[in-house]
Amino acid sequence: MEEFDVIILGGGAAGLSAGLYTTRAMQKTLILERLGYGGQIMITDMIENYPGFPEGVRGPELSIMMEQQTRKFGADMRYEDVTGVEKLEEPLKLVHTTEATYAGKTIIIATGGSHKKLGVPGEDELSGKGVSYCAVCDGNFFKGEDVVVVGGGDAALDEGGYLTGIVNKVTVIHRRDQLRASKILQERSFDNPKMDFLWNHVVEEFQGDNQLETALVRNLKTDEVYKFPTAGAFIYIGFESNSGFLKGQVSMDEFGHIKTNISMETGIPGVYACGDIRVDSDRQLGNAVGDGITAALTAYKYITEGE
Ligand code: NAP
Repeated sequence: MEEFDVIILGGGAAGLSAGLYTTRAMQKTLILERLGYGGQIMITDMIENYPGFPEGVRGPELSIMMEQQTRKFGADMRYEDVTGVEKLEEPLKLVHTTEATYAGKTIIIATGGSHKKLGVPGEDELSGKGVSYCAVCDGNFFKGEDVVVVGGGDAALDEGGYLTGIVNKVTVIHRRDQLRASKILQERSFDNPKMDFLWNHVVEEFQGDNQLETALVRNLKTDEVYKFPTAGAFIYIGFESNSGFLKGQVSMDEFGHIKTNISMETGIPGVYACGDIRVDSDRQLGNAVGDGITAALTAYKYITEGE
């Protein structure tokens, strides 16, 4: 069985930052990622609130730079899906993936979250056929057409704004008459002539014959249900923690967020959590990077003090 000083679960901003620090501290580091390095930033068009980029930086571009930087210092980075962990309380902890089992003196959990689904009829069937969770990936399929965005947070307005550069019109469908998004994004969206709002509405079903044609919506004030024609639907209603494989092994809240102290310690010696997966995370890129660095420094201290 291959053995590492540090095994990092997840190659998003938190995991890559942790890996950058552990490899520079000469710790043998394995980073396991199932999809693509960068995590959420990989599917974010433009990032304007990460310090050091006054003109903003495209998420996919920053993801590649972060990956290259961590790889440069010797991190062993593998595309493998983590299926479980074992023996967390022991000096050598086990990580199972779809390909192998690895042993690590420390484990840093940085598996973040995935986009939540609405859970309405037609959503799964029409996913990839008009229903999408990634404007940057799929926006170009809807050039010059009308689309909807579901949600009222930062992601909905950010990605909705991005879509207005491609499509004819974006209608944001939100279940309340107040947005959760930050004020700057709200103002920018209200000023955008290609952005419209359908307040106090929910989507009850997506309909179409092998391609999305209509969102069946309900007006929550009047209870009226009607068809809203749309070529595309982009769903941005928050995230779900990717922590199912850890259930019962580390302390979590009811939403699957892992509890840590400010040193990213989970309470199990040698096991740390960082980034969006963490209770109380602000879920910002800067926080994920900072968390990852702290987790790496704490892990380094644990390893070297134990030697
Ligand atoms: P979020 O802030 O949790 O917002 C989710 C939105 O979806 C809310 O408006 C919520 O409505 C709505 N919603 C939730 N469940 C729903 C359902 N079943 N049906 C209809 N609507 C539903 O999630 P997010 O926008 O994905 O953002 C997540 C985090 O990433 C936040 O911390 C955010 O600040 C950060 N982020 C930041 C940026 C940026 O700074 N540029 C960009 C993207 C994301 P209610 O308001 O009624 O609850």
